[in-house]
Amino acid sequence: MIPYGRQDIDESDIAAVVEVLRSDWLTQGPAVDRFETAVAQYCGAKHAVSTSNATAALHIAYSALELGPGDLLWTSPNTFVATANAAVFCGARVEFVDIDPGTYNLCPDALEARLRKATKAGKLPKIVVPVHFAGQPCDMNRIHGLGQEYGFRIVEDASHAIGASYDGIRIGAGRHSDITVFSFHPVKIMTTGEGGMAVTNDASLDARLRLLRAHGITRDPEQMRGEYEGPWYYQQIGLGYNYRLTDIQAALGASQLKRIDGFLRRRAVLADRYDGALRSLPLTLPARAPRSISSWHLYVVQLDLQRASRSRREIVEQLRRLGIFAHVHYIPVHKQPYYAAEPSDAFSLPVAEAYYERALSLPMFSKLSDAEQDEVTASVGKVLS
Ligand SMILES: *Cc1c(COP(=O)(O)O)cnc(C)c1O
Repeated sequence: MIPYGRQDIDESDIAAVVEVLRSDWLTQGPAVDRFETAVAQYCGAKHAVSTSNATAALHIAYSALELGPGDLLWTSPNTFVATANAAVFCGARVEFVDIDPGTYNLCPDALEARLRKATKAGKLPKIVVPVHFAGQPCDMNRIHGLGQEYGFRIVEDASHAIGASYDGIRIGAGRHSDITVFSFHPVKIMTTGEGGMAVTNDASLDARLRLLRAHGITRDPEQMRGEYEGPWYYQQIGLGYNYRLTDIQAALGASQLKRIDGFLRRRAVLADRYDGALRSLPLTLPARAPRSISSWHLYVVQLDLQRASRSRREIVEQLRRLGIFAHVHYIPVHKQPYYAAEPSDAFSLPVAEAYYERALSLPMFSKLSDAEQDEVTASVGKVLS
């Protein structure tokens, strides 16, 4: 079976992990510091705070921006449930804004229309979370401009998008947002097994993220109340979690980051090859936004079900029988029973729903060989003909 995504681990990655296993530190130690510095440098941000996974990073990002009960967070329905769930962890309510039919990202026009309505109703969001779906950056200039106008904060869910760029600048540089979050789950661009990172240019947000990551505890005398009692001393000055990344994971992450250019190059080649091979089939190829370079986490086509004269389910099942693990990203989050139980007018999202009916993700990962990809495109051709 050819999976839709998988990790790319080589001997240098294995050696980096083994080196940590022989060292004095296993959990958060010097390898975590090195990995955080490397990611901050890579994406051009001032600060990077690693976490046990991206869901945890989203949770502390929203918390650092003081999202709480009574607040609203708006995001795209075309995302993994974690983007929304992390807001519910904070006691906030989540609402969804429809997507753009070309890029499948949060639509700035839909956002602007909803903001106008919400202003009248007095229900503006505290945070808006654009998700760089499939690795293709959102229209951040527009979203940032609306943030200035309507006073919301911005967290970029860049779980798919480390290495992608917008206006020639890497995602994570923080030109258009307060915090950017990356995921290092094995199907993403690079991996730490499980892991995430929140990056920011704001020193006070960085300090808050670090407290939230580790129990609300500080060892910095500057942050303490009262007297510093000695080298053993720490204070809990807020409530936080245990969301630490381990040194074992960080060593893997730093090693993977050294290889990221190769990962991204290979994914871009695979995307071009797919475009060429699938062009004449009854489907829509992924759009390429003019000011962006995608990291190609996913390769998503939209099926023309009339011309294919089969259901999407039949197509996916047939592909799986042929050994191709095609997948679908994403079931719109507002359609999940947990969220659908509390509907509102914010849940009428026709573009996201129409997109979902026809979406299909084909295998996309750096280790996918030309021969395997040819097998995928031949199978897709066979199923759709
Ligand atoms: C993978 C993913 C997450 C969650 O990442 P984890 O590291 O698995 O917690 C969040 N948002 C999006 C868009 C994702 O794809």
